[in-house]
Amino acid sequence: MKVVVKVGTSTLAYATGRMNIRHVEALVKVLSDLKNEGHELILVSSGAIGMGVGKLNLPGRPEDMPTKQAAAAVGQCELMYAYDELFSRYNHTVAQLLLTGADIDHQERRHNFENTVRRLLELGALPIVNENDTVATAEICVGDNDTLGAVVACSVGADLLVVLTDMDGLYTADPRRDAEARLIPLVEEITPDIESLAGRPGSALATGGMATKLKAAQMAMQGGCDMVIANGARPELLYDIVAGRPAGTRFVARAKPSEAGGQRERRTKS
Ligand code: GLU
Repeated sequence: MKVVVKVGTSTLAYATGRMNIRHVEALVKVLSDLKNEGHELILVSSGAIGMGVGKLNLPGRPEDMPTKQAAAAVGQCELMYAYDELFSRYNHTVAQLLLTGADIDHQERRHNFENTVRRLLELGALPIVNENDTVATAEICVGDNDTLGAVVACSVGADLLVVLTDMDGLYTADPRRDAEARLIPLVEEITPDIESLAGRPGSALATGGMATKLKAAQMAMQGGCDMVIANGARPELLYDIVAGRPAGTRFVARAKPSEAGGQRERRTKS
């Protein structure tokens, strides 16, 4: 199975900007094991800006663009250094791919990205994707890695996109404020009712980032790819998710790529 796993800063780093070693180590172990089992994996990892803040001892997440981009430049190194070292323990090779929205919109660059990912997978490497934050200004950025995860999943024809976050999935209400809140295990269609769960004011914790996740789910479902939102503090859930067992919230794809028909046009890099 071809699986894109997107992991957010809330899983990878503490509020201090320092790496959450427990989470990162556990994630790397499960991903390595799934690769050993024969699955093709692509990791979309946030955390560059967050870890740059920690490494540069900045007082908080910067607001101005140059500091944000400087933090990303420092943090991206830190992130890849950690992934390289940890995946090497399990004899896996990582590869860094940094994209902007402009690369995705540009047909040839997007094809080149797809070809590179395909070749990396053939070579047994693990592509790790992030937005190229050092150059991605507001006009050309994807903006959030949930969307980037969906774009990558659709581009490479993934069967599954897993979005790991600090919530167990999509809830009927904010579980940190409302004892009646229930996890929604399965979503077959993103109805206005479902959309309203992401945007309700005053429920910042439960729905923090849910709007972008629903947008990503919509994109993945349309592209024939299931998407699951699950808790990044429990990466072992990936075993169940990949096996199709219930975990988190699963958004069911409209049609699998094979049913949707048509081979994507491929262009080789010359
Ligand atoms: N690209 C950003 C970073 O690595 C994260 C964006 C996001 O998580 O949505 O810091």
